[in-house]
Amino acid sequence: MNADFSLYVGFLESVRPNALANKHGDVHIAAMHTGLAMVILEFAWFVMAQGEVFPEIGDINQETSPAALDGIPPGLSVLLQTLEFGGVAETANLTAPIMPNDPYRSAASYYLALLMMRFVWQHELAHCQLGHIDFLRDVGRHAESSTLGFDELNLNELEQMALSLDSRILQCLEFEADGYALGQSIGIQVENKENIDGIAALPRDLRLRMTLFGIYAMSWLMEAMASTFTRGRLAITHPAPIRRLQMTQNMAVWELTDLGLEAPTITRSVLREFEFVLGQIGKQWLQTDKFDPISYRTVFEETRVKLEPYRYVVD
Ligand SMILES: [Zn+2]
Repeated sequence: MNADFSLYVGFLESVRPNALANKHGDVHIAAMHTGLAMVILEFAWFVMAQGEVFPEIGDINQETSPAALDGIPPGLSVLLQTLEFGGVAETANLTAPIMPNDPYRSAASYYLALLMMRFVWQHELAHCQLGHIDFLRDVGRHAESSTLGFDELNLNELEQMALSLDSRILQCLEFEADGYALGQSIGIQVENKENIDGIAALPRDLRLRMTLFGIYAMSWLMEAMASTFTRGRLAITHPAPIRRLQMTQNMAVWELTDLGLEAPTITRSVLREFEFVLGQIGKQWLQTDKFDPISYRTVFEETRVKLEPYRYVVD
């Protein structure tokens, strides 16, 4: 295990919705682009404008539950225009974001956005703390591998650079970072360690479900964005695979069961509400590929052993 760990955390001013983990010298870096915070907030507004989601918050009669425009996930039109025009064009046909009307639901959308952002921070921290960056650089065996890091929008590029690596290993690093972030996020609620007053004041069951919802939303959004970026367009007819969401769902069940909570009841009710939101974006987003996490198990276990000497934390 590695001993000294230092981390620099911060926002990067960029319209491109991205997050990254890297290392300069001995200092790890976890960063979020301001564009990602924008996407997250717009997504959270859209969620809380749906009266069917967390109906116990505020007065749902105030909400009209609008569908998303043109099947595009809320917040992602900025990414699409960035890809198309190299920036948001002056002539861009920007529509006003869909926002909740009820003031309590409006407040809740900011809390949801913060919970989603926490998951991103924890995910990037995981890449650093779990030794993923040091591991990649060691095994990369490539001219540029000494500068390798995680750029969440360009995971496929990383795949090309780390040629000696099975692409499933890279996918496992993402799953592991998601799992770590999920464990940390859920732990904060279960152990009553929430430091955002407005969230801490909510009933524990609601805090927990909002946390889980934010995790599902974020793992889905990250995969949808990475795939959009790779293909240069949002593949509406062939949506991004939802492997990460499915994997996150499995990990949530394990995590909550470990904590002695009613895992199936909680995860199923949250997934139902998240799938409602996907349906409001467009029915095509509801289709699932047949992802079998079992096929990853051996690679996952082997990777964990290989990562052992690179860890900064004890498993
Ligand atoms: Zn990642």
